[in-house]
Amino acid sequence: MTTKSKALEPSELAYVPFVSVDNMMKNVHSYGVEPFMTGIAEYIEEDFLRWESFDKKPRIPAHAPQGVIELMPTSDGETFGFKYVNGHPDNTKDGRQTVTGFGVLSELSTGYPVLFTEMTILTALRTAANSALAAKYLAPKGSKTMAIIGNGAQSDFQCLAFKSMLGITDIRAYDIDPDASVRLARNLANTGLDVTICKTPEDAIEGAQIVTTVTADKKYATILTDNMVGSGIHINAVGGDCPGKTELHKDILLRSDIFVEFLEQTFIEGEVQQLDRDHPVTELWEVYAGKAAGRTSDDQITLFDSVGFAIEDFSALRFVRDLLPKTGHFEKLDMLADPDDPRDLFGMVLRSKNDGTGAAA
Ligand code: NAD
Repeated sequence: MTTKSKALEPSELAYVPFVSVDNMMKNVHSYGVEPFMTGIAEYIEEDFLRWESFDKKPRIPAHAPQGVIELMPTSDGETFGFKYVNGHPDNTKDGRQTVTGFGVLSELSTGYPVLFTEMTILTALRTAANSALAAKYLAPKGSKTMAIIGNGAQSDFQCLAFKSMLGITDIRAYDIDPDASVRLARNLANTGLDVTICKTPEDAIEGAQIVTTVTADKKYATILTDNMVGSGIHINAVGGDCPGKTELHKDILLRSDIFVEFLEQTFIEGEVQQLDRDHPVTELWEVYAGKAAGRTSDDQITLFDSVGFAIEDFSALRFVRDLLPKTGHFEKLDMLADPDDPRDLFGMVLRSKNDGTGAAA
């Protein structure tokens, strides 16, 4: 059976909308960074509420001693999406990002890509949106202060998403590299957030209702120990996202109610890799759908064991695809061969040599 494209006109079939880093920044500015993250969060929630319609599998990794490259595919039966992403904590030492990515959205009925985009900035936006969305259901009501441990590339986005979606007003920042905290404070000046740079992680979590850990180190790290964590807080653990790469002491996990994106993947990559496979955890979609409880008491410790799941990237890609007609900030990428006769691909190659233009004659 052949299925024809319903949405695309022939003229549109000849190119793929491509969002470069430069155009992603233009899109973010024209929409506003906080509305952009709120918008992605709405798309994520919408997609998590139709959890059953997605094809779900743990991401496909290629590990090296220095880091990991991962492919993250998913489909809702109409649209297919994937992200290519890496995580290399030592990259920053020679001027590279720890995390970079790009992604594609395609029409399942024709196999034709409908979006190709950078996803380094988009990952930071979606990760922050996803953290704040989970915290809306899990953090203590009226939270005003968030500690953020690890003040690298992701951290500014996290702070702004929590300001915009949770009403956080005070940030307590700690990083083993004090310059990273100074950079974060500088970027957040004039955003309405009050940033205090702290000398120790203990100092940072003092008085915080939410603690975000977003460090990068490829080992079983102990960013938070059990005695640092008082009752009633919400922990947004973002940096432990790979086998052998965690941030929290196991005893904290044993005292917390743990929420995850996709159980099958998080048990491989998240903080819960330290626990037995039958330890109770709740998938967030169940909380959003009202099938499971989020925060139920004031003294409960809630933990979002974030690793990053393909559906969130799918949602972020959908958000960008829907935004592009409004902003126009994209290029037309010549990525699809488009001979006049679809079967005459070689003829198109031959004619391009003769007319010297490279265009299909
Ligand atoms: P980055 O390298 O830009 O920043 C990491 C920061 O952590 C650095 O400033 C570093 O000095 C600091 N740090 C390292 N060890 C520390 C410690 N013991 N105490 C305090 N600070 C410490 O990395 P990034 O792009 O901000 O990413 C941070 C982490 O988030 C990475 O581990 C990455 O893999 C992870 N991540 C997770 C998701 C997700 O969806 N869960 C998405 C993106 C990134």
